[in-house]
Amino acid sequence: MVDWSARSQPSPKKPTKDAIYIGHDDKVPMYCRTRHNAMHVLYDLLDKAISAEHSVLLGFDFAFGYPNGFAETLTGKPDALAVWEWLAKHIEDDEKNQNNRFDIAAQINLKFIGDGPLWGCPANAEGPNLSQKKGTPDVQLAIKRQAEQVVRSAQPVWKLFTTGSVGSQTLLGLPRLQALRKRYGDKLQVWPLETGWNLGTAPITLVEIYPSMLTHKNPFPSLDYSWKSNSDIYDIEDAVQVRGMCEAFARLQKSGHLTDFFKAIPNLPNANRVVREEGWILGAGHSAEQNITPPPLKNDCFALPPGVHWTPVDDALNQLRQRVSVVTSVETIAVPAATGRVLSKDVHARRSNPPLPNSAVDGYGFAQSGTSDGPNIMPLIDGRAAAGVPYDGTVPTGHAVRILTGAVVPDGVDTVVLEEDVTLSDGKIAFHGPLKRGANTRMAGEDVEKDTIVLKAGRVLTGANLALLSATGVDRVDVRERLKVAVLSTGDELRTVGENASDSQIYDANRPMLISLVRQWGFEPVDIGRISDDPEKLRQAFDQAAQADVILTSGGASAGDEDHVSALLNETGSMSLWRIAVKPGRPLAMGMWKGTPVFGLPGNPVAAFTCALIFARPAMLGLAGAEWPAPVGFQVPAAFAKSKKPGRREYLRARLDDQGHAKVFKSEGSGRISGLSWADGFVEIEDQARDIKPGDMVRYIPFGSFGI
Ligand code: AMP
Ligand code: MG
Repeated sequence: MVDWSARSQPSPKKPTKDAIYIGHDDKVPMYCRTRHNAMHVLYDLLDKAISAEHSVLLGFDFAFGYPNGFAETLTGKPDALAVWEWLAKHIEDDEKNQNNRFDIAAQINLKFIGDGPLWGCPANAEGPNLSQKKGTPDVQLAIKRQAEQVVRSAQPVWKLFTTGSVGSQTLLGLPRLQALRKRYGDKLQVWPLETGWNLGTAPITLVEIYPSMLTHKNPFPSLDYSWKSNSDIYDIEDAVQVRGMCEAFARLQKSGHLTDFFKAIPNLPNANRVVREEGWILGAGHSAEQNITPPPLKNDCFALPPGVHWTPVDDALNQLRQRVSVVTSVETIAVPAATGRVLSKDVHARRSNPPLPNSAVDGYGFAQSGTSDGPNIMPLIDGRAAAGVPYDGTVPTGHAVRILTGAVVPDGVDTVVLEEDVTLSDGKIAFHGPLKRGANTRMAGEDVEKDTIVLKAGRVLTGANLALLSATGVDRVDVRERLKVAVLSTGDELRTVGENASDSQIYDANRPMLISLVRQWGFEPVDIGRISDDPEKLRQAFDQAAQADVILTSGGASAGDEDHVSALLNETGSMSLWRIAVKPGRPLAMGMWKGTPVFGLPGNPVAAFTCALIFARPAMLGLAGAEWPAPVGFQVPAAFAKSKKPGRREYLRARLDDQGHAKVFKSEGSGRISGLSWADGFVEIEDQARDIKPGDMVRYIPFGSFGI
């Protein structure tokens, strides 16, 4: 696996980033200062492999082709390999990395309509046919190849200069690949340009790779990066990536999934054109793990059994829990970026915390066996043990060593006396026994032992979790992609705040509220806007919203004339009106639109808010792969009186007063948004009848229990 580079001078002696790294088998990657040198390293490896009759998967991290149409204009043939030949003829690239790529780029541009597709160069390479900035090229040429559209983060191959640009690497790489083709003849095949969507039969298969896929849209099985501690070279991300790619492909081969990667991804448009002209990135669009793209929910997943009238809240929640399953795919990301993300797998400690016994205080360390009850006097040895700077020698019994908090406990020491409990004079310490063996030290692994499960799948990661992962040596985690939640409001009366509104119109309060909740829950909101009560417009909005993982609407969800959300979902046959015995709340319209679940919340802001917290949140956490939440509440004395009939559960907007008693909002009207904003939690009154007098205990659930 080769990480290529377009440097114009040899890279520094000391391994550095943005240089060439060659990863092979499970070896530490090789650093190459020039392309010339890299080719010789490769020739050597390949010659050996061939004489040993091994098969080689040889990957390079630049584009093997250009977007459709380029090859034909440049060479007269719609064939990526013709571009390789053309470049091999024109590119000069000497043993010291000096090359003519910008001149050749200008020559290429001349063959195209407009400014030509290639752009980006240092100021001194600019000329009439190549500029530093993007020009207006022929609109027929796509910005990205299809493969790059799948992996998204890949840069267009047209850009030749500055960070992340792959264009120059391609110009300087393809001639080298052509040289490989010449040298190895029919012993080498290029996938998929020569093999089609198959592995091919030659000993060497040349493929395009995109190492960033290890962390984004990752189709590979998850890796154990423990080898990172084997060499300083892994301080450089490129080296980690080539080694990671080697391991990823090796694991796929072991599990029998590698051959799948050579097949076209299902539903790839113009798959033949891709084979001839553009090439493909090995693994792009594929999934190695069964659960990486979970199956969508079934169309009838929200259907309730017939004859159900008013469902108690707990039953409704149980039903929801059974019906939703995770829909988001898995990616591997760096731990510091993982706040709010959902673990897709259990995580094991890579190392113990602490890894070695260490001191819990600043003081003096010695062997407890060398102490006695009553006064002790001990000579201090030279040197000290500090955090990160261990004392290397052995401390003889009967001697003490200066030790600081966090320092590894040296050999010969098992006990530490606190600095404040010691008198120091003449290179000796005096203190009072007895001391317990192990006093003031922390045992290795007393917090966490290596290989134990530190966090389970489904955990939504918090700052404290990131601390635990980091302390136990875990630097990457497999998490679910963020759940995308499309939010829309319905109603002819609605205007978006900032728009002009007549007195018969109201401002859309639900959408900003729901978008904010969605964000606080760690999901990615997609704002679809306000939609008038018009079936056609709503249909279009739903089509757009169906790109997300779930659709959250408010308004129009009952069964009346203007309840278009229900009407539209009814058409799909997937609609179910969940009549839940809860106040505030109207029926929830639950259904599927083109494979995407829809939660139709009531229009009244208070009801929309309550239903979002009580029902939509757990359902969305389920879709996101998180553990099912159980909001924590506690019993507090009521600061109000209320009498309630049996039959439904009530959620009152509440606030704790300074004695810790729950007050409730003066009005229960479900249009009173001021009460929502005033409240810091709910008082939940059970389904049965209740006659509450001030001082009676009631269940208060802070909003914090709902993750907001
Ligand atoms: P609906 O469920 O569409 O019948 O709406 C019920 C009540 O909620 C009506 O008084 C609506 O005007 C109001 N309403 C609906 N959507 C919103 C919204 N996005 N913001 C504020 N009020 C709304
Ligand atoms: Mg309405």
